[in-house]
Amino acid sequence: MNPCPCGYLGSTLKACRCTPDQVSRYQGKLSGPLLDRIDLHIEVPAVSAEQLLNAPMGESTEAIRERAVHARALALARQGRTNHALQGAEIDRHASLAPDALKFMHTAAAKLGWSARSTHRALKVARTIADLAGSERVEVAHVAEAVQYRRALKAAG
Ligand SMILES: [Zn+2]
Repeated sequence: MNPCPCGYLGSTLKACRCTPDQVSRYQGKLSGPLLDRIDLHIEVPAVSAEQLLNAPMGESTEAIRERAVHARALALARQGRTNHALQGAEIDRHASLAPDALKFMHTAAAKLGWSARSTHRALKVARTIADLAGSERVEVAHVAEAVQYRRALKAAG
């Protein structure tokens, strides 16, 4: 979604002309419970045509696909199903969090006022990030990345 009705809030390309009121009304259209169910919130800044054309080639889709297939196979071998399909206590059992990663998760959840559902969903994302990295245990870095993906929208102003 755009950050505001005109689409330029926070952009360096063009000034946003929306009022703070318009921005909060616009962002308020996505309810908390709905946002709760979206696991990956990623801010994508607007780029100029020139930046777009001069951008270097990224990693190939084929290489990324290979990594994803491998991570999925790790999850299936460990628990017989994908990370997304884990529920309740299974998540805690299979996440295998390092002690400091568990502490980090608890602190972040408390600070951000997360529901049990949000916390469990973030844990599943952290488990997947660890699988993508080929790590048996979920470490602090994996949890930190998952936490980053579940953040609030940038407020107006
Ligand atoms: Zn705007």
